[in-house]
Formats: sequence, structure tokens, C-alpha cells
Amino acid sequence: MHSWSKIMPDAIVVGTGFAGTVVARELAEAGKRVLVLEKRDHIGGNMYDKQDENGILIHQYGPHIFHTNNEEVAEYLAKFGEWKPYQHRVKGMIKGIEVPIPFNFYSMENLFSTQECKILQTYLQENFANRQRVSVWELMESEEKVIKTLGHYVYANVFEGYTSKQWGVSKADKVDRSVLERVPVVLGYDNRYFHDKIQQMPAHGYTTIFENMLNHKNIECLLNVDMKDMVTFEYDGTIRLEDEAFHGVFVYTGMPDRLLQNCYGNLPYRSLDLQFETLQQDSFQSVSVMNYPTSEVFTRITEFKKLTGQQKTGVTTILREYPEAFEGREGQEAYYPIENETNRALYEKYKTTLTSCWSNLYLCGRLAEYKYYNMDAVVARALELSKEILEKEGK
Ligand code: FAD
Ligand code: UDP
Repeated sequence: MHSWSKIMPDAIVVGTGFAGTVVARELAEAGKRVLVLEKRDHIGGNMYDKQDENGILIHQYGPHIFHTNNEEVAEYLAKFGEWKPYQHRVKGMIKGIEVPIPFNFYSMENLFSTQECKILQTYLQENFANRQRVSVWELMESEEKVIKTLGHYVYANVFEGYTSKQWGVSKADKVDRSVLERVPVVLGYDNRYFHDKIQQMPAHGYTTIFENMLNHKNIECLLNVDMKDMVTFEYDGTIRLEDEAFHGVFVYTGMPDRLLQNCYGNLPYRSLDLQFETLQQDSFQSVSVMNYPTSEVFTRITEFKKLTGQQKTGVTTILREYPEAFEGREGQEAYYPIENETNRALYEKYKTTLTSCWSNLYLCGRLAEYKYYNMDAVVARALELSKEILEKEGK
């Protein structure tokens, strides 16, 4: 039995990533008593960060950079802590040469002769007038031979190897096109990784933002509690909290197949083996994130002090990401839904069963909605869901 107030809440929220935390906060603000359950020993979901033993702020679940065009989301998050502007720049190690990613005119100049660059840029400007960015698919599908050839070069050197590693596929075209479209080809010299209006990092780390969001008199947050140890779903439509029937709002942000004992089969996710290393040196690489599209087993290396801004000398912390299939092993986390038609259909089957059996159950977030959401989209979705719940409740 877990120690908690035992006061029957109006709402139960499972998970303390942005999905769970935003909904908990919004329901609490509207006067509802919210019980939050988190199976990890910390809040913040995959945004969790902490100082390591060297005083370097690390992101425990991989590098997280906040970027959005949604001003409402940025304004909302600004209420819970200070943010500092940050423009993310990434390089790729291509055939031993460091080139900016997304592939842009600088990348071209690093890899091709001045004459070749001139020709390529002229063709690109003529064929994609007024476009600042195109997808690698558009280049490869161009009728223009020069552009098509460039497209195939970028595909082979930037996307193919990285995508095979990240998604465990033999060919990058086995992955939904939208995945590669996240990283465009830039028709110019803008070498930032993201192109959103707002790009920033929390000045004192993400965890502080989450602490402030969950710090509300109507929120009780229990850590180290797997929902299944306190909650049961009965097939007559009842949800039980410990021994009592719970009729309030139930928001779940974990993997949906788990709620039905994977009865239709496992929803596939990708995971990562995250390997941190401390090095006794000032600097390891030229940028905060270096991608390895054509070599190595890992996909990228993050050097945290370049991402989170510590001025430490003589020591640096790096992270290598080794992609792997999510098999539900102890300690392994599901990080990426694998979006395709088959998996979407399987997800919909789970969702339909869950929401028709338990009318007070809501699914929210990257795992629960099986969507490759960025942070800003999760916050937007959680705000929208909170509104929907409160309207339904007549609040
Ligand atoms: P999560 O953060 O996964 O939170 C879910 C929470 O629910 C977890 O804390 C989990 O422990 C808890 N939980 C699950 N099941 C249970 C249960 N049964 N009982 C109790 N608790 C449970 N987005 C960006 O915008 N920018 C980036 O740079 C970026 N980088 C990323 C890098 C990596 C390596 C990864 C994996 C993701 C990145 N993202 C980034 C995406 C971002 O992490 C997600 O959008 C975000 O985590 C989604 O929040 P969430 O609340 O839906 O899920
Ligand atoms: N990608 C790639 N090469 C790169 C960077 C990205 O092939 O150098 C592809 C890869 O398939 C990856 C996808 O683009 O999964 C999306 O990249 P993003 O950086 O958005 O991935 P995330 O940060 O979400 O892991």
C-alpha cells in the first residue's frame, strides 16, 4: 500500500511528463482535487533534467530543445519559470567531415567544389523559387536530373544510415515520410536545426518548471507508484482506486496497450540505450549535438554543457544514443511511436475499446495517443483536453 492522503480525488492523472502535468495543473486550477501517479522516482517524464556529479545539467532521457510557433503554449509555460533564448545547431559527421544539419548551402560548400555549388544553387533557386526549405523526398522526386542527383546524395549521406539505425529498418523509405520531413533540406545559409519563431531552453532546467507546475494545493503527486498497483479497470466500466470505485476524471499518459494486458498484441515503440560518459577535458566536439549518419552504431552524441550552458573547465559530459526495439525489459523506456498505417489501426483498436469500456478515461500524450509529438504539441494537446474535460463537467 502506498502512503497517500486517502482523500478520494476528483481526478487521477497518470504520468508527469508535459501531458500529465499540464492536465493536472489545469484541473487543479479549476478547483478539482487531483491525484497524480508517477512510476519513476522523479517528475518531468522525458524532459527530466538534473545536475550530474560534475555540476553539469544533463537531460536524463536525451537532448530536449523547446521550439514552437504556438505563442499561447510559450506564454503558458512562461508562467512556471524563466526561459532563455537558445538556437540549436547540429552538425553531421559525413565521411569524416563535419557539416551542418539540416543540409544547407554551407553543408554543400563543405562537401562539393565551388563550381559544383554554384550550379546546384542555381538549379535549386530556379526550381524552388520562394521556398526556404524542401524535403529530401521533393529533391529525389524532381524531374530535374541535377536536383534528383543531389536528392539521392543527401538521402544516402544524411538520412539513410541514421534512419536505418534509429528505426531499425533496412531502408529509410520503410519509415513514414513525415519522419524524414522533420529535418528539411535548407535552400540557403540558415544553419539552425529548427526554424520555429520561438526557440528556448528553461533557464534553470525543465525539472524546475515541472516542480512549479505541480506545486498546487489541489495536487497530490505520488512518485515510484505504477498506476497498476493502485488502480484497477473492471470490465463493467468501473475504475477502482485501491478498493473504492472512482467516478472522477481519469487521464492516462502511458502506453495504451498496457491497460488491456496487450490483448491485441504489442503496440510497437522504439527505445534508446542512453550511454553517458564523463570526460576530463574542456570540450569534446564543436557543437552541442553531432549526428553520425554514415558511421557508428549510435545515432548522435550530445555534449551537455554546450546545450545547457554551464561554464565548467576540465570536465564535460557526453551522451551517445543507441537505438533499439522496445521490448518492455526492466528499466527500458518506450520513446518513439512508430507511425504507419498498421500501427495506427492497432492503436485505434485499443483506443476504441478503452474509451468505450471506461467513459471517464482520457488518453493524452506521445505514448497514449501514439503520436510523434514534440513538447509544444503535447502542451497544446493537454491544454485542449483540459478545456474539453472541464466543459464536459460543466465547470
Ligand atoms: P512522457 O514525457 O513520456 O511522460 C509520460 C510519463 O508517464 C512518464 O514519466 C512515465 O514514467 C509515466 N507513466 C507511464 N506509465 C505509467 C504508469 N503505468 N504508472 C505511472 N506512471 C506512468 N521534443 C521537443 O519538443 N524537442 C526536443 O528536442 C525533443 N527531444 C527529444 C529527444 C528524445 C531522445 C526523445 C525520446 C523525445 C524528445 N522530444 C523532444 C519529445 C518529448 O520527449 C515528448 O514530446 C514528451 O516527452 C511527451 O510528453 P508526455 O507527457 O506525453 O510523455
Ligand atoms: N534524420 C536523419 N539524419 C539526421 C537527422 C535526422 O536521417 O542527421 C531522420 C531520422 O529518421 C530521424 C528523423 O529524421 O528519426 C527525425 O529527426 P529528429 O532530429 O527530429 O529526431 P528526434 O530528435 O525526434 O529523435
